Amino acid sequence: MSASANRSAPPPAALPLAGAAAIRAAVDAAVTGAPGGPPWEYARLVLAAIGRAGGLRACLSQDAEDGSEGLALDGLRTLIQRLAVRAPSGVTLAACVQAALFIPLMAELADGAQRRVLDEVLDGEAVASVAISDAGIAGSDPAAMATTLRRSGDDWILNGAKDWVTGACIASYVLVCARTGAEDRHFSNFSLVLVPVGLPGVTIRPRDTAVMRHAGLGSVRFTEVRLPYRALVGRQGRGLAYFLRYVATERLAGGFWATAIGRDQVRRTAAWLRRRDVAGGSLWDNPAVRRQLAEAAIGVRLIEALTEDILRQRATAPPPTGDTAALKAAVGPWLTSALGTCVQLHGADGLTTQGGLFQLLADARAFGIAGGTTETMLELVAQSELVLGDPGAEAVDAPEHGKESHGQSVR
Ligand SMILES: Cc1cc2nc3c(=O)[nH]c(=O)nc-3n(C[C@H](O)[C@H](O)[C@H](O)COP(=O)(O)OP(=O)(O)OC[C@H]3O[C@@H](n4cnc5c(N)ncnc54)[C@H](O)[C@@H]3O)c2cc1C
Repeated sequence: MSASANRSAPPPAALPLAGAAAIRAAVDAAVTGAPGGPPWEYARLVLAAIGRAGGLRACLSQDAEDGSEGLALDGLRTLIQRLAVRAPSGVTLAACVQAALFIPLMAELADGAQRRVLDEVLDGEAVASVAISDAGIAGSDPAAMATTLRRSGDDWILNGAKDWVTGACIASYVLVCARTGAEDRHFSNFSLVLVPVGLPGVTIRPRDTAVMRHAGLGSVRFTEVRLPYRALVGRQGRGLAYFLRYVATERLAGGFWATAIGRDQVRRTAAWLRRRDVAGGSLWDNPAVRRQLAEAAIGVRLIEALTEDILRQRATAPPPTGDTAALKAAVGPWLTSALGTCVQLHGADGLTTQGGLFQLLADARAFGIAGGTTETMLELVAQSELVLGDPGAEAVDAPEHGKESHGQSVR
């Protein structure tokens, strides 16, 4: 990646207003109504309604030169930020996996029948999950994956188990990453395969979780699941490469999402503090209280600034991987810190279930784990140009002691 790539380029054309308005209208219409049944049924209803209203298709844009379809990052921002302040976190997470990962990945790779599956998802007729993390194996180490996809005549046979799969409880399809190559850790040993959940040998059970309860998180087991050869998505041996390319979009979506909920909660907290009577005035009259909230607001603004900077570099998915890793490394700690301040400043009111603020803080813990932990992101940043500099640039000798450096710096 190039941390400074394209910074001087003009910003890409913004999403046409009609597109943004259509996405917002689709979300607003979808989040009404009282759901029954388990919490993830609400996510199913919302995703279906957004798709039916054209909200997911409105996130797509067409390349002016080759006519290919891709995900407009502006559109993704509108979708995620609207959902972030109108729906429970788990619904937004399920939408993130659809819109920021499955749709752009399949828009590039799907062929034939797979294209029809993409259309079903875009139109809200089906939900798709993406399963990378193997059960019982550290998610931070995908190269240790034990789930296998082996040839059997003209078919594939899938065996293994995935855990913490977002949307598994409401999915019609699971896009699975499995080992098609040797037992070792080489990057090219893994492939993507599209699995309809109704096939014999596929079992799904809800995951016990204290966070993102509406996301339909599930554990998925595959026992001798027979798939046709055409179920393979993209090229054999490219599975992890495809995933890593497109998970950058999901990481950018995390920045959109964190900005929206952080900003919303800081403003709600400011309003609450102004209403809260204490010693003949309001809590807001206390400068120490105001400064705590100002610090939280600055954290949110920094996340927003990095998010918008990435958006200026790229109009369609996927965004640059290096900067999105830096963004993801920042989002978890900054967001939990900002929401922690909001909870604290609400006193006991911040600890109710009805207010939802404490649950939001708990849900925000997932930002530092799902889709790659904060530590894994920091490791990526440590190996990037941001830390090491541009390897192509000529090294500039450090100034000798006692001599003027004339402001030169190693790029
Ligand atoms: C809400 C949620 C949704 C998810 N959705 C999906 C999904 O849709 N599809 C899917 O495939 N997976 C999903 N996951 C799984 C997720 O990708 C993994 O949880 C994640 O990759 C981390 O793996 P792990 O939980 O096994 O933690 P581990 O890899 O076991 O790591 C445990 C902890 O060790 C520390 N650690 C790990 N590596 C390092 C390191 N290099 N340096 C320092 N410390 C380190 C970190 O603190 C880390 O949190 C989801 C998880 C959550 C919580």
